Amino acid sequence: MSEHRARKRFGQNFLVDRGIIGDIVNAVAPRRDDCVVEIGPGLAALTEPLAERVNHLHVVEIDRDLAARLRRRFPAERLTVHEGDALEFDFAALPRPPGSRLKVVGNLPYNISTPLLFHLAGFAELVYDMHFMLQREVVERMVAEPGSNDYGRLTVMLGYRFVIDWLLDAPPEAFDPPPKVHSAVVRLIPRPAADLLAADEAVFAQVVAAAFAQRRKMLRNTLKGIVADAGFAELGIDPTRRAEELAIADYVRLANWLSAQQGARQG
Ligand code: SAM
Repeated sequence: MSEHRARKRFGQNFLVDRGIIGDIVNAVAPRRDDCVVEIGPGLAALTEPLAERVNHLHVVEIDRDLAARLRRRFPAERLTVHEGDALEFDFAALPRPPGSRLKVVGNLPYNISTPLLFHLAGFAELVYDMHFMLQREVVERMVAEPGSNDYGRLTVMLGYRFVIDWLLDAPPEAFDPPPKVHSAVVRLIPRPAADLLAADEAVFAQVVAAAFAQRRKMLRNTLKGIVADAGFAELGIDPTRRAEELAIADYVRLANWLSAQQGARQG
């Protein structure tokens, strides 16, 4: 097959380190009948070993040339190539045996990783687990503790929905062409529905977004018009604190206070 020239606009940095490829596939640990979907298969560094381990693999690839290569290389009964943008892909439409959930894998294009994580969070209830290679800086934000500079909207929104584990690091030389940044692999496991305590997740998202829109300002100011002083007092949350100081559970409590107020107003 002819040489493929990496396309920057699609964030193409192909994994070439055999050790890291093996470590990722072992971490995913797919079983034969698992429903596995890979985002951005590229030149098949992960696709090949994954396809060896499962009966059937789904991939979502935006690059038309790469999608065509994959169709030539793998028989259709082993691999389904969904040509298109993963940001718009309907993961719920993938055929799954009744009762089974998806395993999602990807060495994600760094330019779309944050919106893609938010898109995937919308399918969390269909997901068994997800393994992603990401820019290390994004992983640092995902696992950050309250009070640190990395703690932000991404930490709270993903940490609410998933248990997140930092599995391994990958230096630029693990890829061809090498990216300018370091990378890391994370595992995300959806939390059970019983642990998701926001009464209204849209309200939760609204409170988190408003608080972090100006992360260095006091909550009393960033949440002005959303949470009244009485709300902070009732919850025992100091309104002079800043967005980065509150735990995820505090955001849930603020959102639920607001939902209750809205409910009382409507009721
Ligand atoms: N999985 C391969 C590997 O590990 O070598 C390729 C990884 S490369 C970092 C990212 C891949 O995602 C490329 O194949 C790229 O064409 C594809 N891609 C980029 N944007 C995409 C999008 N919006 N939807 C689906 N695939 C995308």
